[in-house]
Amino acid sequence: MRKIEEDTIVIATHNNGKLVEISELFKNFKIKTISVSKFNLKEPKETESTFIGNARIKAHFASEATGLPALSDDSGLVVDGLNGAPGVYTADWATTAQGRNFDLAMEKVWSLLEEKKTPFPRVAHFICVLCIAWPDGHDEIFEGSISGQIVWPMKGTKGFGFDPVFLPDGQTKTFGEMSPEKKHNMSHRSVAFKKLLDACFP
Ligand code: IMP
Repeated sequence: MRKIEEDTIVIATHNNGKLVEISELFKNFKIKTISVSKFNLKEPKETESTFIGNARIKAHFASEATGLPALSDDSGLVVDGLNGAPGVYTADWATTAQGRNFDLAMEKVWSLLEEKKTPFPRVAHFICVLCIAWPDGHDEIFEGSISGQIVWPMKGTKGFGFDPVFLPDGQTKTFGEMSPEKKHNMSHRSVAFKKLLDACFP
């Protein structure tokens, strides 16, 4: 497993919600994080059908373009009652002609579950794959997940994406209602991040 010896790492995401969370997770470490958006690069197309495949595309693209190690996050919501959808296409479900609309995407998930009369609890999982890639083409992959259920109506205005409809197992608040600290203690992203820290920090 390659260690991160460099003092700067590029965060290869244009998603502000992810950027905030990843920067927060790095806050107690002596490493500088720069958002890929500072480099004025286009976003690569996510053409793979797996979280790992798309995480690799984003990390390698940013690393090759900047000459620095780059960390990407490919994540999404897997709903059992929808045969795993939206899965790797989670962000696409929010895409409209006017930009991303997550309220509409959450309504779509809920109405499909209603149509199918999916029994309660409506089990779902957040999945996160982190990929760190270096300019020489090497990469390392870390995965995290958290299980819970989809609830309705949406609750909370914290977090991002599908947070207001995701109630983690054993909790009474959705991710949208939780403080960032609490979400960071259990989220799919923090599970993957802890694995990265254990493996890649000298
Ligand atoms: P992608 O990884 O850029 O394809 O986008 C993943 C999508 O999954 C995001 O746009 C969010 O909608 C959703 N997602 C991933 N992680 C979270 C999370 O922690 N909370 C809420 N939604 C998330």
